[in-house]
Amino acid sequence: MWRASVISIFPEMFPGPLGASLAGKAHQKGIWSLDAIDLRDFATDRHRTVDDTPAGGGPGMVMKPDVIARAIDAVAAQEGQPPRPRLLMSPRGVPLTQARVAALARGPGVVLLCGRFEGVDERVILGRGLEEVSIGDYVLSGGELAAMVLIDACVRLLPGVMGKEGSLAEESFADGLLEYPQYTRPPLWEGHAIPDVLVSGDHAKVAAWRRAVAEELTRARRADLWAAHVAAKRQK
Ligand code: SAH
Repeated sequence: MWRASVISIFPEMFPGPLGASLAGKAHQKGIWSLDAIDLRDFATDRHRTVDDTPAGGGPGMVMKPDVIARAIDAVAAQEGQPPRPRLLMSPRGVPLTQARVAALARGPGVVLLCGRFEGVDERVILGRGLEEVSIGDYVLSGGELAAMVLIDACVRLLPGVMGKEGSLAEESFADGLLEYPQYTRPPLWEGHAIPDVLVSGDHAKVAAWRRAVAEELTRARRADLWAAHVAAKRQK
C-alpha cells in the first residue's frame, strides 16, 4: 500500500477532496493510506504552541524546530523499509513535475510537512533532511492544499486507480508535451465540427495528427517545455 503521512496544524482538512472521486475510491479499496498527524500533539506547553516570533524581527511567526522534529521523529520511529521521502511543502522548493510525481508514485509513499505562518525554522529543514517541494510560483496560506495536490497527482498513477492504464501514457507531460485537444459528440456543435481526421477511422493518421497538434500547442504555449523536448530529441 502507498502511504501518505501528513504533518499539519489542521489535520481536520484531510482527507478533504482526497476522499472523493478517484482518490477516494482508491483509498476505500486500500490502494493507498492517509495518516493526518496533528503537529500540536508534539508541543510541550499547555497552549500547545507550535510557533514563535522570527529571530531578527519582522512580521509573522515561524514554526518551531523542536516541535516539528518530534513529530518527524515519531513518524520515523514507525517507518518501514525503504523509508519514505520527507518533503516540506514550500514556495522555495524545487517545482513539482509529472516526472517527480511518477517517481514518488513508484516508491513507498511520502511524509509531508505542511508549513503555516511565515514558514519553518531553517535548522529543522537541514537537521531532519527535509526536501522542499513547491507546487508553483505563488504563495499559499499553508502547505495543506499543496500536500493534497501532490498526493492527488501521485495517487492517480497508482496501479488500479485509473480505469484505462493507456490514458496515462498519452497525457500532458507524458512525453514532455502538452496533450492534444479532445472532442466528443455531438459531431457539430455551435457551428464547429470535430476535425475530419478524428472521424476518419484511420488510427495512424489520428496518431500523427495528435502528435503534430501536441507539438504545435507546446511550442506556442510553453517555450520552456518545448526547448526541453527539442533538446531531449537531439540526444536520442
Ligand atoms: N514566507 C514564506 C511563505 C509562507 S506561506 C515565503 O515567502 O517563502 C506558508 C506555508 O504555505 C509555507 O510554509 C508552505 O508550507 C506553504 N506554501 C505556500 N506556497 C506554497 C507553494 N507554492 N508550494 C508549496 N507550499 C506552499
